[in-house]
Amino acid sequence: MVAVNQYKISPEIIGISKHRIKPDQIDNDAKSIIKKLNKGGFKGYIVGGFVRDSILGLKPKDCDVVTNATPEEIKNLLPRTRIIGKRFKIVHARSGRNITEISTFRSSNQSNTKKSSEGLLLRDNNYGNIEDDVFRRDFTINALYLDVEKMEIIDFVEGFQDIKNGDLKSIGDSFERFKEDPVRILRAIRFKAKLNLNIDNKLGRDMKKLSYLLKEISSGRKYEETLKLLLTGNSQSIMSEMQNHDLLDYLLPLTKDFLNSKKDKRFIFNVLKNTDERYKRNKTLTPSFLFAVLLWPALINKTGSLNSKKIKIHNISRAANLVLKKHNQDCFIPARIQQSIKETWELQAMLLKIPEKSKIALKHKRFRAGYDFLLLREKSGENLGGAGQWWTKKIAY
Ligand code: ATP
Ligand code: MG
Repeated sequence: MVAVNQYKISPEIIGISKHRIKPDQIDNDAKSIIKKLNKGGFKGYIVGGFVRDSILGLKPKDCDVVTNATPEEIKNLLPRTRIIGKRFKIVHARSGRNITEISTFRSSNQSNTKKSSEGLLLRDNNYGNIEDDVFRRDFTINALYLDVEKMEIIDFVEGFQDIKNGDLKSIGDSFERFKEDPVRILRAIRFKAKLNLNIDNKLGRDMKKLSYLLKEISSGRKYEETLKLLLTGNSQSIMSEMQNHDLLDYLLPLTKDFLNSKKDKRFIFNVLKNTDERYKRNKTLTPSFLFAVLLWPALINKTGSLNSKKIKIHNISRAANLVLKKHNQDCFIPARIQQSIKETWELQAMLLKIPEKSKIALKHKRFRAGYDFLLLREKSGENLGGAGQWWTKKIAY
């Protein structure tokens, strides 16, 4: 933990010979955004995961820019951007499929922020300078600012050393920071698993003590966080960590109990292993497939076994609606993703009705997902009468 009163007026400046991030590693979109901000008289830095991961020689997931320009000033300078968010207004700059998030320095003055009775930060659009902003960030490893012109990192919180040592440290008291935003608990789990970090006893204790506050987080935000947890290459260890920290109650309550069943656990972890391998090979990963798997045991619990040719599709649809409705109370899946999940499940029945329904199944737009799902069920020990092999042969011709 870095106490806020350990505030460093003059930060450590880390040069290229020490951080070793090469100029050609810098994201071109971020570079061009920062150039335009500078031209408009503002400052802009790369911050967060891009700096952290680049120092570690990893490929960063995205690139976040921070500036002293307000969202409206950013929009004036970069007209093809969009202001999003209510709790925290940020600006999205899209270039092809790449989105750069541009945020404005937050102020540590909390007089105008809105908090819930539990201390949860509900709204904060108070702007400040870099010295304020640094203490609003979650962990020291995420609070390094890269000046792309000078190729220097500005470090107020000894984050560079923490990255090198593999230590996850909260900025300020972890109890207060988790209370303010319990999603930071999920972020801690994610960074620990991704970067194999050490978590000290107090941080670990505070995570456990305050996880109940995740109840207060909107179901939409919890859905987004679940995707980040499980679709970024470390889902097996993250799922185990979430179990250890009793976090599944808040994100995946309908999955939680089934992890005690050997059979369901084997299926879910087999799929997570497959998901992590696909991530590493840069293959597409879809939220609908992930949730179809995570909620499959709950569906079977409602319908009974789906291994028979006699299963009626409308029975699956009815059970699917019930399962999704219950799940959405905690972790809201967008409507179009829900539709894909239902179709993947319905296909499980269709794919068994061979050869009668094979033409319809083959033409189905989610055929591939349904077929992959079927294979993973078989791989996890289900006896589906050789349906997987039948389909594998069928599509080979
Ligand atoms: P990733 O590799 O997943 O993108 P990241 O650290 O960049 O990791 P982002 O969600 O992109 O995560 O956020 C960018 C930065 O914004 C973080 O590094 C951190 O400094 C800050 N941040 C994000 N979420 C929070 C939060 N809930 N509380 C405080 N600071 C946060
Ligand atoms: Mg990021």
